[in-house]
Amino acid sequence: MHPARVWQVLLGVMLAVSPVVAADSVGAVGGVAAIGPVAEQPARACPNGYVALTFDDGPDAVTTPALVDELRRHGSRATFFVIGAKAAAAPEVVVLVRSEGMAVGNHTYDHPFLDELSEQAVTDELTRTSAILDGIGGPAPTLFRPPYGRRNAVVERVVRRLGLTEVLWSYDSDDYEEASVEQMVRQAEKATDGEVLLFHDGYHSTVDAVPQILDVFDRRGLCAGQVLPSATPQQAWLDYDGDDKTYYPAVAGPW
Ligand SMILES: [Zn+2]
Repeated sequence: MHPARVWQVLLGVMLAVSPVVAADSVGAVGGVAAIGPVAEQPARACPNGYVALTFDDGPDAVTTPALVDELRRHGSRATFFVIGAKAAAAPEVVVLVRSEGMAVGNHTYDHPFLDELSEQAVTDELTRTSAILDGIGGPAPTLFRPPYGRRNAVVERVVRRLGLTEVLWSYDSDDYEEASVEQMVRQAEKATDGEVLLFHDGYHSTVDAVPQILDVFDRRGLCAGQVLPSATPQQAWLDYDGDDKTYYPAVAGPW
């Protein structure tokens, strides 16, 4: 062991048994912490904030595990808005997603136009899906995303009554419209702190794009964050004509 290293270790032992010295030597304590095994795995730096990657319409038995693997390899997490019927058909994939620390949200039972349904039917879509997710090891989701971003006052009322946070998106990857990996990466270059990015985990091109997008985030000092409720509504990107439907009460933040 290098002599300086020996001294550092000895100093660490002294500080550990001498709380008075430690309290008076903040700088030295910091130096000792840096030689511990945990500190040798530095936390990812996020000086420019957080962007949430969200993946809709799964789980898929093939592409969802592949995507989770890419995220895990990078030490990042994401949020999966799953369809209740698919979750019920592939519960092991939901378990896998959660086991890697990913968040799982409610994306209805069978992906209807919610703004064309009765209040009871909207309620059924959401409660049925939450019950399925609660039943697969739980917990019941707190986040909800309306398919196609289609919503109205009825949907809003049900969402509020069920205590869910509605999450739209500030950026659409267009992966379902066969956007290329290059296009998705180029678009993600523009993402800024707090934004919520929409993807779908059923496409191989999305799985291919994600590691490159995470590298872009690294270079730009951004981290893949989680979706959190926000008191300040965020403006959404919607692909259909909306009127006052273009805000949502969520934002990307640290896990
Ligand atoms: Zn969807």
